[in-house]
Amino acid sequence: MSILLKNVHLLESPENERTDVLIRDGKIAVIGKGAADSAKETAGCETTDCSGRTLMPGLINCHTHAYMSLMRNYADDVPFATWLFDRIAPVEDSLSNEDAYYGNLLSIMEMLRTGTTAFADMQMFPRMAVKACADSGMRALITRGLVGESRDDEGAKRRLQEAFDEMEYGKEIGAPCDFGLGPHAIYTCGKDLLRYVGELAAEKDLRVHIHLAETQYEFDTCMKEHGKTPVEYLDSLGLLDREILLAHCVYLTDGDYELLKRPNVHVVTNPASNAKLANGFAPVKRMLEEGIQVALGTDSAASNNSLNMFGEMRLLTMAQKGVSKDSLALTAPETLDIAVKNGAAAIGRCDLGAAEEGKTADLILIDENAPSLRPLYNRKASLVYSASGYEVTDVMIGGKFVFRTGEYLTIDAEKVLFETERIAARYR
Ligand SMILES: [Zn+2]
Repeated sequence: MSILLKNVHLLESPENERTDVLIRDGKIAVIGKGAADSAKETAGCETTDCSGRTLMPGLINCHTHAYMSLMRNYADDVPFATWLFDRIAPVEDSLSNEDAYYGNLLSIMEMLRTGTTAFADMQMFPRMAVKACADSGMRALITRGLVGESRDDEGAKRRLQEAFDEMEYGKEIGAPCDFGLGPHAIYTCGKDLLRYVGELAAEKDLRVHIHLAETQYEFDTCMKEHGKTPVEYLDSLGLLDREILLAHCVYLTDGDYELLKRPNVHVVTNPASNAKLANGFAPVKRMLEEGIQVALGTDSAASNNSLNMFGEMRLLTMAQKGVSKDSLALTAPETLDIAVKNGAAAIGRCDLGAAEEGKTADLILIDENAPSLRPLYNRKASLVYSASGYEVTDVMIGGKFVFRTGEYLTIDAEKVLFETERIAARYR
């Protein structure tokens, strides 16, 4: 299957330069003059005129909980502990697998619609996430959420078993998913379980995905119980030696920066969730200055309440500029790199995150005629400071269109909306 995208504007090209891009076997095969000639030699190549559109790699949402879109706008304007333990957790506990499947699909619909082509998920319903990805063509790093005291804890054992079962299931059904382990947090997982997750991750070459240093309360409790900051504590259990995604990292000490400065450690900042739950803003400007790798996530639609990475990019740069009183903090190109390139590195997919020959074709097209982007002085600035995300017209994952000229090709959108309203009716 080959697709020739004609007359596209690549984000990295000079403002007025247009080019052709040939996609073949899921990859970006040729960019530039040779693309049309190669397309002629490729049987059954489909050609699309992309005049008036910008082509860029898809955004990568590095921290979310996709099934939780079922709880969007269900528990707002309440304290963090009330939000999590009194409002969200009881609903979560009452969801069926089928409910979670539709919740996952609803999230995937929103992510595709706003240009996200891969996400890192901490899941309580991993099988349903894997199925939703396989059915929709969405790419993901699925990490099974884990809680419990130790490796002997029955609940933890069951969830770990599920994590490994879903990896097999994903392979069986050909889901475009990678897998990892998702110990929820240092306050919901005991020392022994965390240590064990690190051992398993090393043994099986899996990524770890955890919430860390999200709240002042978590920081203070960790200092009181372990005499260490959350970052020091996790390091003492060996987890910072693994490939790891650390969601949040809002509360850091000077010493923590040193510990996070490792090529295998990826901080995932979630500015909207942190702001909405009144946890502050992560010191992203300083993290970048210190040489720490930072990717971007939305967290769930229950705490954001959106999975739109364009909105997240805008808030990220605005918050860093506002808090540091430095208008040069996090420029538009730096913000895009965080949302795309750093995201690809965080999920362990260096074949993604760039519109270059040889890379996997996870790409999006953006309507340059959207009034929100005009006049077009500077495309990167337009995308970070002005775009809403709804300027995205087409989304391709692994060389296949999954969203085209505003239509979902792999999802029955009407059914998903009907089913999610039916589920929500139970909680009204
Ligand atoms: Zn989260």
